[in-house]
Amino acid sequence: MSKTFQPQGQQQSVPPTTPSDDEHWMRVALVAARAASELGEVPVGACVVSSDGTLLAVAGNRTRINCDPTAHAEIVALREAARQVGNYRLTETIVYSTIEPCAMCAGALVQARVKRLAYGAPDERAGAVASVFRVCDASSLNHCLELTPGVLEEECRNMMQAFFRARRKARIKE
Ligand SMILES: [Zn+2]
Repeated sequence: MSKTFQPQGQQQSVPPTTPSDDEHWMRVALVAARAASELGEVPVGACVVSSDGTLLAVAGNRTRINCDPTAHAEIVALREAARQVGNYRLTETIVYSTIEPCAMCAGALVQARVKRLAYGAPDERAGAVASVFRVCDASSLNHCLELTPGVLEEECRNMMQAFFRARRKARIKE
């Protein structure tokens, strides 16, 4: 029904996302990742962007601060975005994550019906998008996400590596 009342061409008026948009939003996620690392969290950041290019939510990891094993950046950002739009379905949104999401977060992205996931560096150990599992485009699920891996991959990877290097150093000193 509602379709009848939508002016034709409205879809086209929304500018298509370009690689440079992806890099822009990944930088927003990277800022959140850096802020998380300064609080002692693993530096992963995520943001949720609507189809018209509005930032709905941005978050870094908060597992330690929140004392919550589910408070990964993606989950925190999805919760905030759902609150923002007043809908647990986030269809037509794009999620940017600095690191390939884990199984929990990849599952949440499917649950939220996110349209597209762009991520930075792969997580060879626990990545559940392409590396270890393929949760976001499994043919048995009734929702598949479009995937854009490798956005600012090097910057995202460097941030992780620097964090773990510093943590190892601190442990050796102890
Ligand atoms: Zn996760």
